[in-house]
Amino acid sequence: MASRSPLALIPEMRELYKQFCAEMDKAGISWITTCTRRTQADQDELYARGRSKPGQIVTWTRKSRHIDGEAFDICILKNGKLCWDVSNGDWKKAGEIGRKLGLDWGGAWTRNKDFPHFQYRRPKVVET
Ligand SMILES: [Zn+2]
Repeated sequence: MASRSPLALIPEMRELYKQFCAEMDKAGISWITTCTRRTQADQDELYARGRSKPGQIVTWTRKSRHIDGEAFDICILKNGKLCWDVSNGDWKKAGEIGRKLGLDWGGAWTRNKDFPHFQYRRPKVVET
């Protein structure tokens, strides 16, 4: 079962999620969390859509950071309704907020853009 709870995130990401919520509030953007953690079975099921199962392709990978509890997905709300139109300015604002907090935002990816997706940027391991 997929989760929408921030408690399903790793502690580092939970902290960033909290900051993200506060900044989104400050910016006056309405939004909801659509997903935090997924199991491998959830991801396999999503991956099958538009491939071995009917529907549109919804994901590009079987190895999602959601499985590790290191990503969350959002949707912008407009007049209380889900706004999937990513040309709406609030999507860009949300992305900027996430990036300012150090999150990796799927809307900034050059290939396979994923506007709702924010993931934890793992610190680089420095070899000593
Ligand atoms: Zn995602």
